[in-house]
Amino acid sequence: MEDKEKQVKKITPKEEDYSQWYLDIIENADLADNSPVRGCMVIKPSGYAIWENIQGILDKEFKKIGIKNAYFPIFIPQSFFQREAEHIKGFAKECAVVTHHRLVADSKGKLIPGGKLSEPLVVRPTSETIIYSMYSKWIRSFRDLPVKLNQWANVVRWELRTRPFLRTAEFLWQEGHTAHATKKEADEMTFEILNIYEKFFKNYLAIPVVKGKKSEQEKFAGAVYTITIEAMMQDGKALQLATSHMLGQNFSKPFKVRFTDKDGKLKYVWQTSWGLSTRVIGALIMVHSDNKGLILPPKIAPFQVVIVPIWDKKISRQELIEKASQIKAKLRQAKISVCLDEQEGRPGEKFYQWERKGVPLRIEIGIKDIKGKRITLARRDTGEKKSVPLRDFVKEVKATLNDIQENLYQKAVNYSSQLTHEVSNYSQLKSVFENKRAGFALGFWCGDKKCELKVKKDTLATIRCVLFNKKKNKDIGKCVVCQKPAEKKVIFAKAY
Ligand SMILES: [Zn+2]
Repeated sequence: MEDKEKQVKKITPKEEDYSQWYLDIIENADLADNSPVRGCMVIKPSGYAIWENIQGILDKEFKKIGIKNAYFPIFIPQSFFQREAEHIKGFAKECAVVTHHRLVADSKGKLIPGGKLSEPLVVRPTSETIIYSMYSKWIRSFRDLPVKLNQWANVVRWELRTRPFLRTAEFLWQEGHTAHATKKEADEMTFEILNIYEKFFKNYLAIPVVKGKKSEQEKFAGAVYTITIEAMMQDGKALQLATSHMLGQNFSKPFKVRFTDKDGKLKYVWQTSWGLSTRVIGALIMVHSDNKGLILPPKIAPFQVVIVPIWDKKISRQELIEKASQIKAKLRQAKISVCLDEQEGRPGEKFYQWERKGVPLRIEIGIKDIKGKRITLARRDTGEKKSVPLRDFVKEVKATLNDIQENLYQKAVNYSSQLTHEVSNYSQLKSVFENKRAGFALGFWCGDKKCELKVKKDTLATIRCVLFNKKKNKDIGKCVVCQKPAEKKVIFAKAY
């Protein structure tokens, strides 16, 4: 046991090497492993349990607004991609293509692909084309609309520069696809979903986010417009967390998704698609964790509480486990997810082990606690310890979990706002990105692609989003790059 503990890799401090810190956190919290196929990732039980919680929460929210789940095949005929020109341009560079359907032995007994397919099949990088080919069969009349489907699936994008959870050749996600009779309905759907995502990030993942529209340069291939949710990681870089696309009639025309309207006329539907992936787990790690390991917000943690009995010669193992089990049962009754660590070992080592795994709250129970009818609570986020009477410990645990959730959100709000800089000219913008921990630069942009590309070339920062304008009277400023009058307020940042 002890040898195994010693083999655990030390966590590189994030101030020293953020990127290595991130990988060390994943390894120490046992979330994922490398796969034999470069760029792919094995998600281990501790990591997958987080994904299951994410699925559970979002699935409920989707169903509340009438979205149903379905499943479409992973293989898409290559010709489907040809139908929407922008779409194929966006995905061609990273498509895995199946050309054969069996393995055969050559004269030397070596296995080679055989049975060439008449048409190559693309392993889905996203499912617009296959889903809309089905919608064209299913949708006939205005009575069939709206269609609101979601699928939980894997997709493959053959990325060369990969990083666990953030960018992998295969990843898990949900993709929603809706079809509507009017443009207005599709516009509303695009925003309704973004609001669901936003609430999810704020209320469950404790991640403050920025919402806005993608520039033409950054929008989804084939969309009329893309709206996005972005968040700042602790190193000041941006991570795109979820996107929602208004597809207009860009797909319904080539895929002939038509309906007979109330006026008897044949019309093309208006469509949206939207998605969120296992990348969100990468965000959770990067927003909240520290140099001791993973920190998970209670509302998404697979285990909210871990009970660690403190072994002592003065009490029998059986008695101690019994007391700890009673505590566990009471927490379970209160719908708190809890794990009891029954293995023997030194408390210090165990505390360290559970800290690395990010369990929000630890309960310690030993002979002293039992005698005094108390237990000790130790918070993962602040390290604070508190002794509470056994009488109403459930109430205390609940209150502490809420407090941890709130504190993690507040901490993220604090560093995000500290690292958000208003800029009004180009030298200010450039100086923001001279810092290693640059953060977000907030300024006006004229809308010209040339200015956007100049920023990217000079600083590596991109326009993460054009902020939504809530005010009646639009703010007018000057483009930070060319100083021409500008209406769009945007966030520039380096991004994952
Ligand atoms: Zn400009």
